[in-house]
Amino acid sequence: MPAHLTLDTEVKYLKGVGPARAEMLRGRAIHTVEDLLYYTPFRYEDRSRLTAVRNLVPGQVTTVLVEVLTAGLTRTRGGTYIFDLSARDASGMLRCIWFNAVYLERNKVFHQGQRVFFYGKAEHDRYGARIQMVQPQFEILVDEPGAGGESLEVGRVVPIYESIGRLTPRVVRRLVWTGLEALAGEFSDSLPESVRARAKLPDRATALLRSHFPEKDTPLDTLLNFRTPAQVRLIFEEFFNTSAGLLLRQRKMKSRVGISFRTSKTAHEAVKRILPFRPTAAQKRVLGEIVEDMRAPRPMNRLLQGDVGSGKTIVALQAAIVAIDNGYQVAVMAPTEILATQHYFYMKQLLAPLPYQVDLLTSARRGKDKTEVKRRLADGEINLIIGTHALIEQDVEFAKLGLVVVDEQHRFGVIQRYTLIRKGVPPDVLVMTATPIPRTLALTLYGDLETSVIDELPPGRAPIETRLLHERDRRSAYEFIRERVRAGEQAYVVYPVIEKSEKLDVQAAVKGHQQLASAVFPEFKVGLLHGRLASAEKESAMRAFKNGETPIMVSTTVIEVGVDVPSATVIMIEHADRFGLAQLHQLRGRIGRGRAKSHCLLLAGEPRTEVADERLRALVETTDGFRIAEMDLKIRGPGEFFGTRQSGIPAFRVANLLRDQKILEWARSEAEKFIAAPPSAEELERYTTYLRSIWRRRYGLASVA
Ligand code: ADP
Ligand code: MG
Repeated sequence: MPAHLTLDTEVKYLKGVGPARAEMLRGRAIHTVEDLLYYTPFRYEDRSRLTAVRNLVPGQVTTVLVEVLTAGLTRTRGGTYIFDLSARDASGMLRCIWFNAVYLERNKVFHQGQRVFFYGKAEHDRYGARIQMVQPQFEILVDEPGAGGESLEVGRVVPIYESIGRLTPRVVRRLVWTGLEALAGEFSDSLPESVRARAKLPDRATALLRSHFPEKDTPLDTLLNFRTPAQVRLIFEEFFNTSAGLLLRQRKMKSRVGISFRTSKTAHEAVKRILPFRPTAAQKRVLGEIVEDMRAPRPMNRLLQGDVGSGKTIVALQAAIVAIDNGYQVAVMAPTEILATQHYFYMKQLLAPLPYQVDLLTSARRGKDKTEVKRRLADGEINLIIGTHALIEQDVEFAKLGLVVVDEQHRFGVIQRYTLIRKGVPPDVLVMTATPIPRTLALTLYGDLETSVIDELPPGRAPIETRLLHERDRRSAYEFIRERVRAGEQAYVVYPVIEKSEKLDVQAAVKGHQQLASAVFPEFKVGLLHGRLASAEKESAMRAFKNGETPIMVSTTVIEVGVDVPSATVIMIEHADRFGLAQLHQLRGRIGRGRAKSHCLLLAGEPRTEVADERLRALVETTDGFRIAEMDLKIRGPGEFFGTRQSGIPAFRVANLLRDQKILEWARSEAEKFIAAPPSAEELERYTTYLRSIWRRRYGLASVA
């Protein structure tokens, strides 16, 4: 055991933490004392002013301290178990009940004479006679003093933590206290002093202490809103570190010598020859920004944002032509095989009049075939390669990689982005994303990129009408599809992916396909597309749909991104309530690509949750991707926003992207100021060293700054 505890000391050396507890803490990524101290309360209880039972007001949420009289499990006539507890304080009697709480009985949690805090909403019981709390949170009082003989759990504002494994909030509180006490305020500040002074924030020791154990008279609602100076300081610190990290990386990239592409007449002519339509003003503007970056002597790092169907692909293709015209290779990376394959056919077809070698590299290519593609890449024979993750495999070499285009970036994450970049010397990078990203997320996810936005759809798009349907509307929905298909249009029928079991999803789609093909639409050919098909089958299914051979396509969400079939005008989404908003918006983006009016039919099961309803209504009301993204973020939180956990979003310990948007903007601007004009070279160096250590440890990124 180390003689002297520091923030970096492993938490297992803390008094009160044995191997079992250390293991539980590890489950929450708490490895060091510092990790523990940044495990901040999710709420607080004011136990300095306890309410007497007699004064409880129905509807009010509050804390009482009572003594247990009786407690036990009963069973209603309906067969549900109820755990029933009665207790009292000097002023009156209180009843508490929990439904189905067999564990309270089994674990013998309560017994007579215990003093217990209950926190919950007071209400009248069924007969209106007595006051009760239903499913209150509780903490059994074991009143050992903390420092100075003061209690940690009574007579003050008390921090409440989320349990960690079997560690109750009370145990967590005691461990945090032990850590704070052992360090005795002896820790260096992580924020540069000049920044802290300008932002007028408390130092780190004070901020940590007061975030856990607020001073007397700290207003409870300020605490609950996470806006005390101590809390704000911790949130600011976290955002400052993330922002500074991204900005330093951006600066480092900019300081490197990249390729200065030239724009030539031949490139211009080539583009003119292949463009199938007139670009929109937004496409032209954005291409201008990209080309300007490409001409500059530093590597480009640009995010191209544009709603589904806004026409990002053709912009990327134009940039690719510039690079190839300069004698460089271009890599286009897509998140799925289907999308990569589609990009490949689209680009190959458009580039056909030009003498370019275009090829495809996905995991579907194996053996000799794959070796040959890799050889041609390494020898510089291929000008444009399109692919999936296969492109970032260790042994893929480029002769002269000049431009990397990453489509639908959020599927890849920051780390993969940097892996591909390392292949070249250093190439220009264009990241394209169709999921409109709220500004706060963009700042954290793409804070090291410049941004271009295509904010205009190509002309002549008919609007999409979205309707929310129920099971009873199914027949008429099928009739509607029949009508549209008879009129020469096409339709998708989509089944949800529930991440837990791809197999079951595929089964649902396969069953749906059988049903539709044999019983519902016997007169049409119905195609089937899902992730478990072999590559060749996927390809032929897509091709048959594209050329209209199978006018109806049943699929899982593999069509979610990028698939482009302009004559598809109807999409029917089964179990729409199981999809995220951003995902539904993506799916809907598969239609409305041609001139005919399009229809999105959302079929939702019943009963539905409040949240599901809110989500679906939002989708019916608007087709504005940015508004939908903001709403989705609000409803589901950033973790699930992208539908996957490996989204490359830095995980925040204290900060909350929704609640703390303003603090993020503030911290970002302070980080910009600090990096642009640090008070001294030493201060910047000291901070950068610190930052490197936390980025390496927390995000596994060694390449920062
Ligand atoms: P996304 O931004 O979703 O990737 P795509 O690049 O797939 O969009 O473009 C969607 C469709 O719009 C494609 O069929 C494409 O050919 C077409 N398109 C793109 N730009 C224009 C334009 N300026 N005028 C007409 N059609 C366009
Ligand atoms: Mg696209």
